[in-house]
Amino acid sequence: MIDLHSHTTASDGTYSPAQLLDEAGRAGVSTLGITDHDTFSGYDQALPLARQSGLDLVCGIELSTKLNGHSVHLLGYFLTDSTLTGFRSWIGDLQASRRERNVRLVARLRELGLDITLEQAEAHGGGMTGRPHFAQLLVEKGYVSSLQQAFDDYLDESAKGYVTRREPQFSDAAQHIRDAGGIASLAHPIRLQEDVAAILPDLRSAGLNAIEAYHSDHSPAQTELYLQLAEQHGLLVTGGSDFHGAVKPEIRLGTGRGGSLKVPDDLVDRLRAAV
Ligand code: AMP
Ligand code: ZN
Ligand code: FE
Ligand code: FE
Repeated sequence: MIDLHSHTTASDGTYSPAQLLDEAGRAGVSTLGITDHDTFSGYDQALPLARQSGLDLVCGIELSTKLNGHSVHLLGYFLTDSTLTGFRSWIGDLQASRRERNVRLVARLRELGLDITLEQAEAHGGGMTGRPHFAQLLVEKGYVSSLQQAFDDYLDESAKGYVTRREPQFSDAAQHIRDAGGIASLAHPIRLQEDVAAILPDLRSAGLNAIEAYHSDHSPAQTELYLQLAEQHGLLVTGGSDFHGAVKPEIRLGTGRGGSLKVPDDLVDRLRAAV
């Protein structure tokens, strides 16, 4: 089985890289993409372990980008080691902008009367502390009753606690992935605020060369639609569960929600042939 979208404790997942590989073994996933937000640290830790266990580990990353003022997630795959120096230093800048945002987010939430500190948020998130970790902290402190309520009341783009983060433009991020020899894939297109079919030509000229047709949030009909759009626009197809562990317990590695995810066996061969 193939799963090209997963997160570890290096970003906002709850499984360490080693635990994620164990889970892949249990779930029957033989090709796994680790796509942590803005970091390769989970992939780097998993690589020697994958070599030992014979798992086919795909280098991946998930970037938050800006497209027409909205946040759009972009996946990068097969970023090869020999070309990574430039890309890795570029994501270092993204990590710095995240830390700077977190300082302002703490200040904003304190202004709203929440008694939290940056140290407490970082205790949940480590090096890659993001809004999901702030959500965990707000639940722990009893300010909200669920992670979703934390986003609805405080952290969502439309909520009162939101502070902006310097995010790269979609085209800039896509170009960095392509320059590093990688495949740039539009993550979970169902979450796009715009009409995907209408903007695909623009995204394609911006450097996009794949679309995540298979994802835990997609119905069979939606997957079918994205496969058609891929065909129509000459895009490659990627797919995965977006596994995060205990924070999204309904999503299983490899099989998604209720076993509904079915990534075809030849998907990675097609991608590798294109790299
Ligand atoms: P950050 O990169 O720190 O800005 O956090 C972004 C992450 O927060 C996304 O990858 C999602 O996992 C999560 N997120 C953003 N908006 C929402 C929302 N409205 N509800 C639940 N999770 C969200
Ligand atoms: Zn995530
Ligand atoms: Fe995402
Ligand atoms: Fe993800």
